[in-house]
Amino acid sequence: MSRVYNFSAGPAVLPEEVLIQASNEMLEFGSSGMSVMEMSHRSAVYENIINEAESLLRELMNIPDNYDVLFLQGGASLQFTMIPMNIMTVNKKCDIINTGIWTQKAITEAEKIGKVHIAASSEGINFSRIPDKSEFNFSSDADYVHLCWNNTIYGTCYKEIPDTGKLPLIADMSSSILSENYDVSKFGIIFAGAQKNIGPAGVTIVIIDKDLYQRIPENLPSMLNFKVHSAARSLFNTPPTYSIYLAGLVFKWLKKLGGINAIEQINREKGALLYDFIDNSSLFKGNIDKDFRSMMNVTFSTGSEDMDTLFVKEAEKEGLVNLQGHKNAGGIRASIYNAMPVKGVEALIDFMKKFEINRP
Ligand SMILES: *Cc1c(COP(=O)(O)O)cnc(C)c1O
Repeated sequence: MSRVYNFSAGPAVLPEEVLIQASNEMLEFGSSGMSVMEMSHRSAVYENIINEAESLLRELMNIPDNYDVLFLQGGASLQFTMIPMNIMTVNKKCDIINTGIWTQKAITEAEKIGKVHIAASSEGINFSRIPDKSEFNFSSDADYVHLCWNNTIYGTCYKEIPDTGKLPLIADMSSSILSENYDVSKFGIIFAGAQKNIGPAGVTIVIIDKDLYQRIPENLPSMLNFKVHSAARSLFNTPPTYSIYLAGLVFKWLKKLGGINAIEQINREKGALLYDFIDNSSLFKGNIDKDFRSMMNVTFSTGSEDMDTLFVKEAEKEGLVNLQGHKNAGGIRASIYNAMPVKGVEALIDFMKKFEINRP
C-alpha cells in the first residue's frame, strides 16, 4: 500500500487513524453482527451512533442549547435554496457578501426566491481578498446576511465576524468548520458539506438558532423544512448513515487530539510554514491579500501556466497529489485541511524547494 499526500479541495484527506478504525469495524460494528452500512437507521445501535456524533460536535464547537444540529443531505449547495425557502420569509430579501463562486451560487439560488442585495463584493479585484468591513453595506430590512467564511477556490478567509447588528448571520463554513474556534452564538446558521473538513461526502451539517424556526412557512415540502428534520432529530427519512458514522469518528479523533484549540494551533503552524516559504520564494507567489489568507486552501502560482502545470505533474510523481488550482482560478492550490499532517506540508515545501532550484 502506498498512500499519497492528498491536497484535494474535496472530497479530501481523512485522518488515517479514522480510516483504520472504520476498516476494523467494517464487517462488524461493536457486537451488532453487521456493518454500520447494513443497519436500520431506527435501530438502538444506530441511534447511539448519530447521538454520539451530535454530542461530540456540540462539545467540540461549544454549541449553545438553543441551537439545533441537523444532519441533512443535498450538500452545501442545497442550503443555497433551503435557507432562503425557510428563513427569507419576513421581507423576502437577503444580503449576501460576494467573495466568489460559492456566494455567486448562493445569489443565483436566493434570487429565485426573493430579493438579493449585494452587501459588498470583491469581484472587481478577482476575489483576492475579503471586502473591508468599511465596505459592508447591510440593508435594514434584510431577513439575514449570508457569507462564505472560507473561499475554497481562491484561498481567502474572514478573520473577524462582521457586525450585522440585528440581522442573523448565515455562514457557509464548508471548508473551514472545525479548523479554528468560532463563537457559534454570533451566527444564525452555520452550514457545511462534510467532504472538506469533516468526513465523506453525503452529509451536510446545519447548526441553526431555533428562534429562526418561527419564520418557516407551514406549506414548505417536508424534506426542505428545517423544523421537520429537527422534530425527527435528523431521522425524518433515511439519513446518510455511514457518512454520519464516519463524521463521528473524525469528531472523536479531534477530541482526542485536544479539540479545536489544538487543531487550530496545528493549522496555524501548517499555514505559516507554507506561506513563509512562498513569501520568500523566488519562483512561487501568492496573490491573496495577506490579511485574508486561508489556513485551509493555500493558493499560489509560478506566474506561468506551463510552469504551474509542470509543477503539478512533477509533484504527483513524488506522491503529492491534487495540487492543481480550481479551473476558475488557475494556478496551484494546496488544501491542507485538519487531516493533512504537518509532515505532508513539509514534504510539499521540500519538493517546492527542489523544483525552484531545478526548474527548467
Ligand atoms: C465545496 C463547497 C460547497 C459545495 O458543496 P457541495 O456539498 O458540493 O454542495 C459550497 N461552499 C463551499 C465554501 C465549498 O467549499
